[in-house]
Amino acid sequence: MSKSTLNFPKKSKSTKELMDFVNAHKSKDVDWKNGRAFCLVYSPGEERTKMIKEIFDLYYSDNALNPGATPSLTKMETQVIAMCADLFNGDENVRGNITSGGTESILLAVKTARDWAKKNKPNVTTPEVIIAASAHPAFIKAFQYFGINYKAIPLDNYKADADLIKEAITENTIMLVASAPSYPHGLMDPISKIASLAKQNNILCHVDSCIGGFILPFLQKLGHEIESFDFQVDGVTSISADLHKYGYSPKGASIVLYKNAELRKFQFSVYTKWNGGVYGSPTMGGTRPGGCIAGSWAAINGIGEEGYLEMAEKTIHTTKALIHGVKEIEELDIIGEPKMTIFSFKSDTINVYQLADILNKKGWHFERQHLPPSLHFTVNYIHKEVVDEFLADLKVSVEEVKKFNLSKIGDKIQVGIVKGLKKVLPKGTISKIQKSQSSSEDIHKENTAPMYGMMNVLSGSEDLDEIVLDFMDKINTLEND
Ligand SMILES: *Cc1c(COP(=O)(O)O)cnc(C)c1O
Repeated sequence: MSKSTLNFPKKSKSTKELMDFVNAHKSKDVDWKNGRAFCLVYSPGEERTKMIKEIFDLYYSDNALNPGATPSLTKMETQVIAMCADLFNGDENVRGNITSGGTESILLAVKTARDWAKKNKPNVTTPEVIIAASAHPAFIKAFQYFGINYKAIPLDNYKADADLIKEAITENTIMLVASAPSYPHGLMDPISKIASLAKQNNILCHVDSCIGGFILPFLQKLGHEIESFDFQVDGVTSISADLHKYGYSPKGASIVLYKNAELRKFQFSVYTKWNGGVYGSPTMGGTRPGGCIAGSWAAINGIGEEGYLEMAEKTIHTTKALIHGVKEIEELDIIGEPKMTIFSFKSDTINVYQLADILNKKGWHFERQHLPPSLHFTVNYIHKEVVDEFLADLKVSVEEVKKFNLSKIGDKIQVGIVKGLKKVLPKGTISKIQKSQSSSEDIHKENTAPMYGMMNVLSGSEDLDEIVLDFMDKINTLEND
């Protein structure tokens, strides 16, 4: 295998040479501009994008690390936070920062909870956070990074189960988490119940509204039935909301908000004994990209409530049309009752991963999920143009899947996949997969397609963790082609 070798360029390359590379390779990326990706990219349309980029470009090189040097960025950031505090029904005590994304917002909220508990909950020996099984993996990342215990509580009808969460609370619990909505199924957790449990137990409650934060408030204002999820809910102490999702800002922007200044101070990092001077840093990064702050400020002001309402209305309308179309297909079942602009579906009769493969070939991109096997769609503004085309392709694809004789080809596909994986993964891992394959009846019972079928079987086991680590090593290493 020839890999990981590429010499550092000796000579400057021309823009044309660079563009040749981009043109040769970028066409293989997902075609989100034409509404083909129901994930990853949120676009407010060309005109608004142009407006946001104009401001972004002005701050392309700027660094918000030293507020004394860039007072205009400080003004923009504090304005964004104040405007979002208003959007999320907070009072004048709410504090927050712009971060690089939802993950950083969550990392910071967890770090804040840990340090808050250190000071305010002296009886806590090993701090623990309680999340629902559907909570975003960024929480797990935070627990891993910061050495915090956690309990991931099974769901009740795909939503957080407040009764089980109540039972799970111990002396060591420092924070409860609720999602508004959860990413996998787009369903709202029982936020007021969870927040009131937190309050009764004198602990913190974080609402993860990374995906919902910049669309739920507008759907509420438009009269759609959406329960309260923000600082209006008694007991909520922090909120994360991603500007770079339905806030339609440039990538690399989210906010984390706290109920008051006292709480946010636990987020900050200060070191006063450095030779380089007194160093205080509000978020995880040192250097802070000015473009993302300015671009977020531009998005919020340039789009405004008026624009967000217009986009939210079109997006929910598009979502309802898509859900309606999915429901008309007998083989597919929408999971839960999504009230926002995310939905997922499963099937008791066909293999959704095979359906996914066929839809991918027709140019559609979305996410495959497991536990249970389902396909996930995040709808945004630009999808209004593709509803009919997508539903037509979906219908045809379901018929194509039905034509397969699954019981016959199931084994063959699995063998094929394992052979493919052999090239990538170490031997020990492969034998583990094969062992779990042959001992598993579930795969055949559910007609679960190869890759994700294995994932379902292996899920939660260390074997799967190891496979994923090997896979990540591979895709994060240069491969010569
Ligand atoms: C996207 C998302 C996150 C993580 O945000 P990133 O910007 O991808 O780091 C966390 N929680 C939820 C519910 C999300 O949808």
